[in-house]
Amino acid sequence: MSNVNKFEYAPAPESSALVDIKSEYGLFINGKFVAPKSGKTFITINPATEEVLSKIAYAELADVNLAVAAARGAFTKTWSKMPPAERGKYLFKIARILQERTREFAVLETLDNGKPIRETRDTDIPLAAAHFFYHAGWADKLSYAGLGQNPKPYGVAVQIIPWNFPMLMLAWKIAPALAAGNTVVLKPAETTPLTALLFAEVCQQAGLPAGVVNIITGDGATGSLLVNHPDVDKVAFTGSTGVGKAIAKAIAGSKKSATLELGGKGANIVFEDAAIDEAVEGIVNGIFFNQGHVCCAGSRLLIQENIQDELLEKLKERINLIRIGNPMDKNTDLGAINSAAQLGRIKALADSGDIEGAMRWSPSCTLPTAGFWYPPTIFTGVSQSHRIAREEIFGPVLSVLTFRTPQEAIEKANNTPFGLSAGIWTDKGSKILWTAKRLRAGVIWANTFNKFDPASPFGGYKESGWGREGGRHGLSGYLKGDN
Ligand code: NAD
Repeated sequence: MSNVNKFEYAPAPESSALVDIKSEYGLFINGKFVAPKSGKTFITINPATEEVLSKIAYAELADVNLAVAAARGAFTKTWSKMPPAERGKYLFKIARILQERTREFAVLETLDNGKPIRETRDTDIPLAAAHFFYHAGWADKLSYAGLGQNPKPYGVAVQIIPWNFPMLMLAWKIAPALAAGNTVVLKPAETTPLTALLFAEVCQQAGLPAGVVNIITGDGATGSLLVNHPDVDKVAFTGSTGVGKAIAKAIAGSKKSATLELGGKGANIVFEDAAIDEAVEGIVNGIFFNQGHVCCAGSRLLIQENIQDELLEKLKERINLIRIGNPMDKNTDLGAINSAAQLGRIKALADSGDIEGAMRWSPSCTLPTAGFWYPPTIFTGVSQSHRIAREEIFGPVLSVLTFRTPQEAIEKANNTPFGLSAGIWTDKGSKILWTAKRLRAGVIWANTFNKFDPASPFGGYKESGWGREGGRHGLSGYLKGDN
């Protein structure tokens, strides 16, 4: 055992006293929290401990109707009539409040989601605030969005988000919609509703006119009611490819416009001339960040065959150092899996890797007894036909394939129904350009991975979705051009 393995970190837990979780939450409609008409509720739990955090309102048709009507009223009477610079001021105000309350949001997100506090504190919440700042600046500059002199908002946008980056996905959706002059009804995922409900309080704190933002909680049935509501103009969905296809069918032939951000199976390609230590960091970040619950994760590692042994040895050494456990501890690298259902999906797909003949490796580590956990896992000897090479696992599981020539790397990387992300590791700029030009992926990183910026459009090809989020391209998904 090397000395570094003997090094222990003292516990450094963040305090959960920073948040005030109510025992029950209503629906946020027309600027107020209201009880659901049916009185139905569901619970949200901390996936790291299985402790119940709160009771959440379950929205049905009557509630959906009220929320859409509130958004329509606010669009017609207030938001679309407001001078754009005034809209921008509200977005700036929301951004500033998010910055002021970052720690509170980070703790709440970690408790409800299971992801490490280091990530919510340093990535999720600061990036969410950055999205509001960025789009605040756009509100009075829409004539520069490339859609003609006088682009118009769609009207009422329904926005449905997943559980992997709850607050960040909310910001990706709400900030451009409001900047463009739309009003919204947003539904967070059923396992992570708490930060969206805290965001509703931020809307109140910012004095946002009632009905501009409405937050409805519930499950897929609630989402489906929103998508099918006749008075909705725009549907923005982030989630699984299966549900994305169902939404595309549901709105086909209607006036509704859609943005779909779906799944991925990103190839992280390491050429023989790459800086190996940097590539190792990038691979770890690419698949173990956020427990691998990342649509653009580098979940397929493609290694040039002649460096496979050296790279895998270094990668395993590095994975041995990953600290797994209490997500509220500031030293934790890998937190809890978000739900029992997701853990079941990860286990089933990883088990298919064993059955189909790939070789599994995990570091020796002790997992907590309560909650939902999965160790960092690598499969080698993976062939392109294996399920773990084709299907999105959405967990901390890396499938390793090899290639001999750059052309073979491209063919393997593109051999997927998805087309969201890819990574390229090489010390040759010309090879980066040659490879990037041939990869069919919406986002391609070179000598880095999982870098995000509000100004940079994000989205996929093929079954990874329609449209982009972020930047001018993302904004245009919320505007009708006049040309
Ligand atoms: P999911 O599709 O099951 O659920 C996502 C959201 O859709 C939830 O709020 C859910 O309640 C709602 N929903 C479920 N069924 C619905 C229906 N029939 N009609 C309307 N809404 C419905 O996905 P998930 O398991 O929560 O999230 C994981 C998936 O999201 C992964 O596939 C991941 O790749 C994808 N994702 C994509 C991006 C991206 O930007 N491309 C980002 C994050 C996550």
